Amino acid sequence: MKVGIDLGTTNSAVAYINTSGKPEIIPNSEGGRTTPSVILIEEGKAIVGEVAKEAVISQFEDTIQFVKRQIGNKSFRFPIPGSDYFIDAVEASAIILKKVVKNAEEALGEPITDVVITVPAYFDDAKRNATKDAGEMIGVNVLKVINEPTAAALAYYDPEKAHIEQNIVIYDLGGGTFDLTIVRVHNYEIQVLATDGDSSLGGFDFDNAIFNYAAEKFEEETGLDIYDDEQGLQELRENAEKCKKSLTKRSKYTIPVTSQGKSVRIDMTRELFNTLIEPFLKRTQQIMEETIAEAGLAWNEVDKILLVGGSTRTPIISSMIKDYTGIEPSKELNPDEVVALGAAVQASFIKTDAHSSHTRKVNIRDVNSHSLGIISSEGVDVFMNSIIVPRNSEIPCEMAREFFTIQENQEEIFLQITEGEDEDPNYVTIIGHSVISLPENLPANSPIEIRISYDQNGIVHVSAKDVRNYIELGEFTIERQSNLTHQEIQEKQQNLLSLEVE
Ligand code: AMP
Repeated sequence: MKVGIDLGTTNSAVAYINTSGKPEIIPNSEGGRTTPSVILIEEGKAIVGEVAKEAVISQFEDTIQFVKRQIGNKSFRFPIPGSDYFIDAVEASAIILKKVVKNAEEALGEPITDVVITVPAYFDDAKRNATKDAGEMIGVNVLKVINEPTAAALAYYDPEKAHIEQNIVIYDLGGGTFDLTIVRVHNYEIQVLATDGDSSLGGFDFDNAIFNYAAEKFEEETGLDIYDDEQGLQELRENAEKCKKSLTKRSKYTIPVTSQGKSVRIDMTRELFNTLIEPFLKRTQQIMEETIAEAGLAWNEVDKILLVGGSTRTPIISSMIKDYTGIEPSKELNPDEVVALGAAVQASFIKTDAHSSHTRKVNIRDVNSHSLGIISSEGVDVFMNSIIVPRNSEIPCEMAREFFTIQENQEEIFLQITEGEDEDPNYVTIIGHSVISLPENLPANSPIEIRISYDQNGIVHVSAKDVRNYIELGEFTIERQSNLTHQEIQEKQQNLLSLEVE
């Protein structure tokens, strides 16, 4: 059994292809169609989902949330409550995955062997690898890591209309990330024309804007600082999100703030909320402007705008998009479910055994969202980042550049591989390094072709060739600064297998 999983910052969802060939959400064991990506550790057991989310207020120290914001950051550790242990974001993601996979197995009555997991298009190599590692840590085969907007386009994909050329914009604003992607659908092909985003912009920032406003008002009225009271602080965070969601339906809301023995009621209107979040809306508009230009399109050439992610329910988002582009965004599918549905469609297209059948098939042509480069030395102590694969190149792709050995009988070339747009190494992300072992007895100034590539998951590989002697030197491992080693994954897998997850 294959499923598609949307591993979200705030909520996760899982879907499969039902017997009628349609993607369908698999509810969790509590009946929810999405599962809050929150972990509560209690008595050595991990509880994931609604129950854990409810415990955030009363037992904040026992909960782990916003894991996705830390994925690919190897040095970040979540403390395990009631112990001296810490887990990293890969393990925490694996716990969430274990819950959704276990529930899906119970609901479908079959073991799940293969999964497709979605990631924001803006995720870099480290974050993609870490997501894949999390899947592997729970013992399932990760068929593919696909971009959330591509999944959304797949969920809307209608083979009957595949012959009509359509330009589709996917505006995806979730809890923690924003992605804007422009795709062209034509002749059984989804081609990503351009993609951009901001990996730390989402509904969480809207909650924060309300939280900061209310915390300030509370201090003005009482002279008390909400930060002096952990419980009050968590309650206000929770109420800020409640207020935001209510303002989706209502025009005003009163936020109760109780802390350190004082209670204050703070009025919030939809108008004021819209003003508070204006800088975030402007930022998404700026990304829209840049991405449409990069796709080589004008707004009047766009056929459809799809809304994805819970935060697109905020009414000002649709009206801002309509005012800015002249297009009314479509809301045919639930913005919280569309990504998991598309991931299930993608999973169904991947052949896992001789019996897999294909009723529909679509070719996906995706692009990389970061330029890929190599740091080279431009003289003593002068280093420069040279871009080898420019951003928005179609993936999978491979590009090569020739480098020359400096000394006779040089044994290796040390490469630092980067993602980012700047020539200055200080302003790009170093993915890791690779040591290219050279054949013996090469004269100085021998040409070596270094090839770097993105595979279909957006993960980077390095290989090399001795040009003068036509010898393939093969693929070289990238020692990634931000990812776990194979041995670390195996060790952590053992710990995870013994952890009870509910
Ligand atoms: P996602 O990452 O797609 O699950 O989106 C989660 C985000 O959507 C969170 O920040 C939620 O607070 C937000 N959200 C969910 N429902 C609503 C709503 N009705 N109005 C505004 N924001 C919402």
